[in-house]
Amino acid sequence: MNTTMEAIDINGAAGEGGGQVLRTSLSLSVITGQPFRIYDIRARRKQPGLRPQHLACVRAAAQLCDADLAGDSVGSMELTFAPGALCSGNYHVDIGTAGSTTLVLQTVLPPLLFADSPSQVRIVGGTHNPMAPSVEFLKHTFLPQLARMGAAVNLHVEGVGFYPEGGGVIVADITPVSDWKPYVMEAWHGIETIRAVATPSKLPEHIAERELAVIQRKMGLSEEALETRYVEGLGTGNVAQIFAQGREITEVFTAIGQKGISAEKVATTVARELQAYRRAEAPVGEHLADQLLLPMAIGAGGRFRTGRPSLHATTNIAIIQQFIDVDISANPVDAYRWDLVVATNNTKGASHEIT
Ligand code: ATP
Repeated sequence: MNTTMEAIDINGAAGEGGGQVLRTSLSLSVITGQPFRIYDIRARRKQPGLRPQHLACVRAAAQLCDADLAGDSVGSMELTFAPGALCSGNYHVDIGTAGSTTLVLQTVLPPLLFADSPSQVRIVGGTHNPMAPSVEFLKHTFLPQLARMGAAVNLHVEGVGFYPEGGGVIVADITPVSDWKPYVMEAWHGIETIRAVATPSKLPEHIAERELAVIQRKMGLSEEALETRYVEGLGTGNVAQIFAQGREITEVFTAIGQKGISAEKVATTVARELQAYRRAEAPVGEHLADQLLLPMAIGAGGRFRTGRPSLHATTNIAIIQQFIDVDISANPVDAYRWDLVVATNNTKGASHEIT
């Protein structure tokens, strides 16, 4: 435990006021060794405080560095986290609900890029959750861009988990970064190929067929661009996804099927996301934008072009700047596009600079 540093005070209700404030704080605390206290946790959510998924993030981050914790229980509105030394290893996290495995991974991944040797993390829970990256988004959108910064992470999906049963399993092999590279992604080269994939578990065939038919019609896709991937989750579940592959980035858009929401509505939601991305003509989509900021800030900085920064992005910027001395600016290019610029004083990575 780090007893010499004063804890940073984090307002959990700031900006987006959701789980991301906590997750970003956990990652940066483990990396920098700075203890923190967060109050009003997820105060802007319907069920505020720590939910099982957030508690799993806290426990997972604590495991990496044998942290001292106070307030780590479901429903807690305040948490104190005092990290010890970061250790690589084989870690196992069972969320115990259908909470998002990908958000737990995003908490522990940045610290493990600074460990002294490779790690493996196995997480059990949900793989396709509303308001969270899907496993396909992590694999095809986020991790390839992280690789441009020098991070080698291999993600294996052993099984899918849908709400409410969960039971999905992801395994990530994480190699620490030896040489952080600046991330630069500014040019829009258009979309080269579009594929639509429906992934049903224990549901009748017509659901996937109807979703794909709507996407096909709205996007003018050929039959070859459509795919149904049947999976065996613990319970029923279904996602409609569009993979938009550009020269340098593949963006994955996801809509989660839910009881009471028609297959046509699910498909329309995901098609709209692609249309908005295409209209903006900026290479980095909304979700990727907020997720790139942390690795850029702890790595070697850089710049990218995106649409109007979301509240998640601006919240993340504020939290990052509470932990690290880094300049992050959002500069409008025109009415639809912004350049996000992350200027670190440190081109070799956080372990050399952060106090
Ligand atoms: P809560 O606020 O209820 O605690 P949460 O813990 O799920 O929710 P948020 O603060 O809402 O967390 O953060 C969600 C994260 O998931 C953000 O980084 C956001 O960009 C990302 N995300 C949400 N939807 C998608 C999506 N469809 N594809 C990729 N990433 C997504």
